[in-house]
Amino acid sequence: MSDNEGCSRRNFFKIAGALGAGSVFLPGLEAAEAQGETNSSTAVPIPVRTFGKTGVKVSCLGLGGMFDIRTNHLLLKQALRWGVTYWDTAETYEGGNSEIGIGQFLQKYPKIRKDIFLVTKSTKYDPDGLSQYLDQSLQRTNAKYIDLYFLHGINTPSLLGKDIRAWAEKAKSRGKIKFIGFSAHNNMEDMLLAASKLGWIDGIMLRYDFRLMRTDKMRRAVDACAKAGIGLTAMKTQGKGSVAVDSEAELELASRFIKRGFTDAQAKLKAVWEEPNIASICSQMPNMTILMSNVAAAMDKTRLTSAERALMDVFALETSAGYCAGCTSICEREIGQAAPVGDIMRFLMYYNSYGEVDYARACFAAIPGEVREKLETIDFSGAERLCPQKIQIAKLVGQAVKTLG
Ligand code: SF4
Repeated sequence: MSDNEGCSRRNFFKIAGALGAGSVFLPGLEAAEAQGETNSSTAVPIPVRTFGKTGVKVSCLGLGGMFDIRTNHLLLKQALRWGVTYWDTAETYEGGNSEIGIGQFLQKYPKIRKDIFLVTKSTKYDPDGLSQYLDQSLQRTNAKYIDLYFLHGINTPSLLGKDIRAWAEKAKSRGKIKFIGFSAHNNMEDMLLAASKLGWIDGIMLRYDFRLMRTDKMRRAVDACAKAGIGLTAMKTQGKGSVAVDSEAELELASRFIKRGFTDAQAKLKAVWEEPNIASICSQMPNMTILMSNVAAAMDKTRLTSAERALMDVFALETSAGYCAGCTSICEREIGQAAPVGDIMRFLMYYNSYGEVDYARACFAAIPGEVREKLETIDFSGAERLCPQKIQIAKLVGQAVKTLG
């Protein structure tokens, strides 16, 4: 699943010219390969931003690793050459082959470890589970430490108790992690606001895009984290929906940006980078075309005009009924937590908007059987009335049962 699906022809040549693609290949990297080492110091860097109070400068574009990295080492090399040094993975990605692939790369080129900001995540949230998965991640990635360790996809601040703080401090003192945080797909604003008051969260990866960034609540949440020194990484920045919606505004959007030399996908990245408190965008870039397209967007200094931003707002409005904003505290509370509505909408997004059929089905299969069996018996009418996006929840849940079940 990619966060950017194309690169305009003009931009392809623009980035090729700017980066000297093919000719500014790193001699250090090539030479190091022969010696079993590598050196990314000659990389052509994309911009960096400071990751909160950690003080670490991270690349403003991060390599999302939700693909089989074992067979994509060339991509990692090129990412390094273009300065994409923020690498994101998780113990769950590709059945572990994302972490294992990074580990094989680091075994081959151990000297580049210091240049990479390595992020991985645990789907176990208790101290014992975190220790178990952290040790597994360290072993798989061939890394002595993880730069930023996340509790993966948490929806409630109640999981960030004193026991987790104590666990993180211990893991830091043992040199196993440098920083601690979490990722959030749902209730992002509430999670950010809660984290900003805790005093020990170093970083958060949140769903954040041209739609969500406009709301007052999201602005407040991002500002609160910035004040608290929490580094922020945006994910799912293309703002895709649970259903693919035809929109005249999208065509107008694409035409407008193409005339300016970039795609609408690149424009959506640019919109997010205009928020200075977002340190990095984590983007799934499983092939060279997407990597080049996104690097081109990161290098290009053209700013969106107010008319273009307004056009994006129109597009967001026109397609809102197909886009779940992750505010599960509204709909899931209304149905007494009988179903993970936000997760189901996200799995449909993987299926309908990203074309990730197997991954969407695997995610859906992870919902406990007793919950899945009752999905079509739940009365979602109250949740639909409250849903700010006016999503037809019952219809989409029914579609998920049929297509993903
Ligand atoms: S279905 Fe509606 S209420 Fe529920 S999380 Fe999505 S946008 Fe929010």
